[in-house]
Amino acid sequence: MHRGLMAAVLVWLGTAAWAAAPQVVRQDLQPGGFYVAKVAAGATVKLNGTEVETGPGGELVLGFDRNAEPRQVLAVCPAQAACVETILQLKPRSYVTQNVTKVPAKTVEPDPAQVARVKADNAATAAARAKAREGARWRTAYMDAFVLPLEAPTSGVFGSRRTYNGQERSWHRGHDLAAPTGTPVRAPADGIVRLARDTFMSGNLIMLDHGGALTSVYAHLDSMDVKVGDGVKAGEIVGRVGTTGRSSGPHLHWGMYWQNTAIDPILWVRPPARTGAR
Ligand SMILES: [Zn+2]
Repeated sequence: MHRGLMAAVLVWLGTAAWAAAPQVVRQDLQPGGFYVAKVAAGATVKLNGTEVETGPGGELVLGFDRNAEPRQVLAVCPAQAACVETILQLKPRSYVTQNVTKVPAKTVEPDPAQVARVKADNAATAAARAKAREGARWRTAYMDAFVLPLEAPTSGVFGSRRTYNGQERSWHRGHDLAAPTGTPVRAPADGIVRLARDTFMSGNLIMLDHGGALTSVYAHLDSMDVKVGDGVKAGEIVGRVGTTGRSSGPHLHWGMYWQNTAIDPILWVRPPARTGAR
């Protein structure tokens, strides 16, 4: 092939691929991790064949399950161009077993009335999360860098298998920070309060909606400083650390969810991983 023509073909291919390829903003490619990028506005985006909503400017956030397959297939299909597939290769991750003792016995083996209360709490939480998902494409706070809700030692990590008072329970869907009762808890990013509820298991529980079906939760709070529908800015105080609900001492349980998938919140405030992209 003629040299100049070949160069032109390569440039053309490059331009076409560039137009559709996602531009990574931040990512941590591992189970429990996330991917934030920008794609062509109006493009149809699919993760492993399932459509994902994007923001008005092509903003995109994805979260990966604790047990996600290592190979994630992201397809971006602009309106007038061919789809571009990007393989997101997740690095392996393992989880520890953690034993939690001295939690109130009533929260380990709840009676029928308490079971009913837990059911109502779960329904309210699911409804709040569904509301965040409905408006997923209109808020894009996830594009901004996140800040820690408070500075304190870690007392529980995401994904660990847990036993309570020696009885095995499901894995830990969040990151625990051990801080004294009354320590202010700050919003890690802009958001809208979707839930502020006194729950049986999680105690006083706040949920923030950051757009893109990305929500964060703050559990066992001593007090709640916001109400449902409030808009909060990154760094704003939403509540105070406590030990309400199923808790063995004052700490913040910080959880993050993408759609209904629990992801690891602490990864959002660590330096972004640069390996394994595309
Ligand atoms: Zn926790």
